[in-house]
Amino acid sequence: MLRPYRIGILEGDGIGPEIVPATRTVVDAAVEAAGGPPVEWVPLPIGTSAIETHGSPLPDSTLAALEGLEAWILGPHDSASYPEAFRGELTPGGRIRKHFDLFANIRPACALPGVRAVSPKMDLVLVRENTEGFYADRNMAVGSGEFMPTPDVALAVGVITRAACERIAHTAFDLASRRRKRVTVVHKANVLSHTTGLFRDVCREVGRLYPSVTVDDAHVDAMAALLVRRGEEFDVVVTENMFGDILSDLAAELSGSLGTAASINASRTKTMAQAAHGAAPDIAGQDCADPIALMLSAAMLLDRVGAREDVYFIDAARRIEDAVRATVAAGIATPDLGGTASTTGFTEAVVQRLRA
Ligand code: ATP
Ligand code: MG
Repeated sequence: MLRPYRIGILEGDGIGPEIVPATRTVVDAAVEAAGGPPVEWVPLPIGTSAIETHGSPLPDSTLAALEGLEAWILGPHDSASYPEAFRGELTPGGRIRKHFDLFANIRPACALPGVRAVSPKMDLVLVRENTEGFYADRNMAVGSGEFMPTPDVALAVGVITRAACERIAHTAFDLASRRRKRVTVVHKANVLSHTTGLFRDVCREVGRLYPSVTVDDAHVDAMAALLVRRGEEFDVVVTENMFGDILSDLAAELSGSLGTAASINASRTKTMAQAAHGAAPDIAGQDCADPIALMLSAAMLLDRVGAREDVYFIDAARRIEDAVRATVAAGIATPDLGGTASTTGFTEAVVQRLRA
């Protein structure tokens, strides 16, 4: 007997209340098509609506409920619109990431059929270490790594630890084992030889545990050029925090648009699906937001959770990807992709394919 699986659902701000329910509908249809028992959704307050009902954009009760879940779908935040008192804080998503030590930011860059892209053949996954490097405010181990000894001198400390390199490397190699079996390690060991040199060396060491996966490495500057020149050759790309931040935007843009860029943030035990784009307040409430990025993020979530236990989730994930691709290929798309479909119209079309 397959047991029903619980997934948290956090709508968020801006277009969140449109794209999150759309994604939920599509997951339900895919799980049903895959023959699994219905998902047990756990709705949790977050963002502007949570400020109104609970006096905080991330209520303690939400955080406590997430403790008991393995997976959840997070809508976007428009923290710039929060009352003054909440604006200095990390965004709710940032706080969740930090609280649960979601060390892996996994962002595929894969062109969709019929969507104009600079690199229409790109199909890679960028695996970004999410807790260390030069992004001090995200750093869990060491606290603030940026400081000014005098008003005219600013310093930043980049932290790379063996333990963090090992866990992100395992994430990358596990993923590559299930794909085209190639990992490219991105670093800048000719200049940042201790920090990014350690990153490269530990990734290569971990790579020896995965004999079926080919490993190579590249300097980050060369990698930027290679992504533009022949990005379709790469499979899994693993890198530290700041390089990953920059390269993931580059790869996403080369392969499509913001409205289609999926991502998950994960630890070994928790998976959070989150679109790469923001709350898009300029188009909120107009039923024209593109739900693809979040739908594909949810598919990644199902795929990852399914790899651990409930097999029908992997099937459901594949069904979502196929249905989204087929719908876009049939010319049904929201205005950001040049189409005329509404959010609900697009969602309906995807659901119809899932039921067909
Ligand atoms: P953040 O600071 O949260 O990243 P941002 O201002 O950088 O927010 P987005 O909210 O992602 O960026 O919006 C950037 C532009 O892209 C906006 O014009 C927005 O309407 C558009 N956009 C973002 N996501 C979508 C989507 N899913 N569908 C359609 N348009 C989108
Ligand atoms: Mg942004």
